[in-house]
Amino acid sequence: MKDRRIDEAVTRLRDRLRPDQISVRLAERLAYSYDATWVEGLPDIVVHAESTADVAWVLRIADEMEIPVTPRGGGTGLAGGAVPTTGGICLNLARMNRILEINPIDGIAIAQPGVTTYSLQKAAESYGLFYPPDPASLYMCTIGGNVATNAGGPCCLKYGVTRDYVLGLEIVIPGGKILRWGGRVMKDVSSYDLKQLFIGSEGTLGVITEITVRLLPKPPSIGGIAVAFEKIESACEAVTSILSNGILPLMAELMDQKTMQAVEAFHPYGLPIEAEALLLLATDGKEEAVQTDLARMIRVIDAFGGQVIRVAEDTESANQLWEPRRQVSPAIARLAPHKLSEDITVPRSQIPRMIQHIQRISRESNIPIVIYGHIGDGNLHPTLLFNRQNSEEMRRVAKAALQILQAALDLGGTLSGEHGIGILKLDLLPAAFSPAAIEKLWAIKLIFDPKNIMNPGKKLPIL
Ligand SMILES: Cc1cc2nc3c(=O)[nH]c(=O)nc-3n(C[C@H](O)[C@H](O)[C@H](O)COP(=O)(O)OP(=O)(O)OC[C@H]3O[C@@H](n4cnc5c(N)ncnc54)[C@H](O)[C@@H]3O)c2cc1C
Repeated sequence: MKDRRIDEAVTRLRDRLRPDQISVRLAERLAYSYDATWVEGLPDIVVHAESTADVAWVLRIADEMEIPVTPRGGGTGLAGGAVPTTGGICLNLARMNRILEINPIDGIAIAQPGVTTYSLQKAAESYGLFYPPDPASLYMCTIGGNVATNAGGPCCLKYGVTRDYVLGLEIVIPGGKILRWGGRVMKDVSSYDLKQLFIGSEGTLGVITEITVRLLPKPPSIGGIAVAFEKIESACEAVTSILSNGILPLMAELMDQKTMQAVEAFHPYGLPIEAEALLLLATDGKEEAVQTDLARMIRVIDAFGGQVIRVAEDTESANQLWEPRRQVSPAIARLAPHKLSEDITVPRSQIPRMIQHIQRISRESNIPIVIYGHIGDGNLHPTLLFNRQNSEEMRRVAKAALQILQAALDLGGTLSGEHGIGILKLDLLPAAFSPAAIEKLWAIKLIFDPKNIMNPGKKLPIL
């Protein structure tokens, strides 16, 4: 972007923001030029917002001067969403990190967007309450980013995703207007439910500046089992059978053999690396109910030839059982210089076929792909491993990634279950939505953001 325009924007921003809230230093711009993918994009200005009024000021100037704005929470996104690929302003919300209220009587929490998911969970727990959405990145990601991507996690099988907990939002739209939708009530049909539009909007409509979420009573006990399967198909069938037999586990997570091997090399947990698949199952509730569910799940597992290798009968040992799953991402990152983690979701009945497709695509493209994911939701993270410096390999990666996404669509699935579209999955949107549907998406976008300054080039295909 032209230096003079940036200088002018900085001068105007300084009218209401302190110097330490605005930076054009290269080192700081570089620090905000990435997320958890390999996508890069240098912002011209980094602004650290500390209040809703700061955000409103930034969006007023940016709108008047038609400067792109990329909101940023923890920068843990897996779709390139928080990367300022068109330059402009990176609007960092991490300093807005206060929990404003936890109210056990109303059963709600109110938080600023930069609060980490873990901090919100811990604060709720101190009142005996429970905020279930649990992305594996919970120590680093923010509640604002979770709302903007409608994040999920292992617990979402039983408890639902971020969307299911959001009661109210405060949002700032381009021009600087502050809007509030919903609030601290559990039921509300007094208007169009426009907060839903902003959940999963990936920063393309406005900036989320305050979030009210519903909290549940904390379940007293958790138990779990780790099960090895000789055949990955049997693991998939066992999960489907558990769910269709009236058992709703807290979590049902799958790791294929390559994932187990990577985790075991990262930290020796004693995983059954000779097996084709590992299933981690958990259940929660009153202690007696947990024991009953564990016994029922083990009966189903037996019928599908699974071998229970570990049983956790209380919350602490269930947490330990879960530790290898938490290490999947860093463990896989050691396997190759770069990785692309897909996020397809298919109907549960189609999981075995989807896995077969992924394995075939891996063989044909000669690109190693590890498979793990939230199998109970049909949400898999096939992760392609490669070296970006090798352009011939990159062509094969791009083709394999598209083939995986297309296979998911062909099986009645979707491109992204929880990570979002960002910039990385834009290419296949026209295959998933009709031109008329895309036109309507753009029409809605332009109501809130007529000059297309909010995270341009993300979420929506270029018309
Ligand atoms: C190791 C690892 C494990 C992960 N596990 C999971 C998982 O289990 N489940 C899951 O769903 N995801 C997972 N993710 C992906 C990621 O953590 C989530 O998408 C998370 O919700 C992003 O939050 P963030 O604060 O880091 O957002 P960022 O990466 O900063 O931003 C993500 C998107 O939201 C927008 N945004 C951020 N804050 C705001 C705001 N206040 N207002 C408007 N727009 C905003 C950004 O512009 C961007 O488009 C994982 C990522 C990693 C690295």
